[in-house]
Amino acid sequence: MLVDIQTTRQVWVYSAIVSSISIIVPVTVVGTIMSLVPGMPFVAIAFGVSIAFLIPLFIAPPLSYLFISVLRMQSETIRRVDEHVRFDMLTGALNRSHFLDSIRARAATGMLLIVDADHFKAVNDKLGHAAGDEALCILVHSMISSIGPKGIVGRLGGEEFGVFLPGLNTDNGAVMADRICANVRALDMIVDGKPLKMTISIGGTLHHQRYTIGHSLKVADERLYKAKQAGRDRFILCDDPPQKAAMRSV
Ligand code: GH3
Ligand code: MG
Ligand code: MG
Repeated sequence: MLVDIQTTRQVWVYSAIVSSISIIVPVTVVGTIMSLVPGMPFVAIAFGVSIAFLIPLFIAPPLSYLFISVLRMQSETIRRVDEHVRFDMLTGALNRSHFLDSIRARAATGMLLIVDADHFKAVNDKLGHAAGDEALCILVHSMISSIGPKGIVGRLGGEEFGVFLPGLNTDNGAVMADRICANVRALDMIVDGKPLKMTISIGGTLHHQRYTIGHSLKVADERLYKAKQAGRDRFILCDDPPQKAAMRSV
């Protein structure tokens, strides 16, 4: 957008600038032209300049304020639409499509994790849906602070999230997955005034930029399924035999 106007102060400042220009320009032009006309009496010049000053003085400030206010509303609308397009409104994580687009845009190799809250239906059943919502927000906050500034977190749907860690391989990806699990496990949540302990399961894969995201998601999802089958509260990042696998049971 040409001008991004967000605050009331900006509306006043821009209105003042536009109004000043609307007054200075006609005064200068009329004054210059009239004074160049040979024999033009001073009174006539003063009259012309006064008119060129007074008309925009009454018209420009309200009109420019109105116009700049409309621009501000437009900026605000665009900002809100942009937020809806990019972010999940409940948790603040990237939404699914923006998360996947961000991975494509980076064109980087890295660890792709699918994180799923364990037995989350029971959380809703026991504490209510609003408490479940609160727990999801805390979960996302914990993941974001666990992975640092280079990683991204997106909500893939429901209580399932994607994490992309550019530049990480299976070894240091395992360290990170372990940290994410441990930090969630360690949370002493109070939701809706009641204590809640939560765990997550993670399936992951090394996403190479030459793979499609769909392929990597499928592989990560298969490993998430295995992590669930193996008892939850754990991560599985590769299909190697257990002694080589980046797999942790707790
Ligand atoms: P599992 O360990 O196998 O993943 O069990 P689960 O109970 O987490 O999985 P299941 O698929 O049976 O249930 C997912 C639950 O997540 C059910 C659904 O109501 C809840 N859920 C999904 N999205 C939201 C949400 O936005 N808010 C709340 N409060 N609950 C949600
Ligand atoms: Mg679940
Ligand atoms: Mg799920």
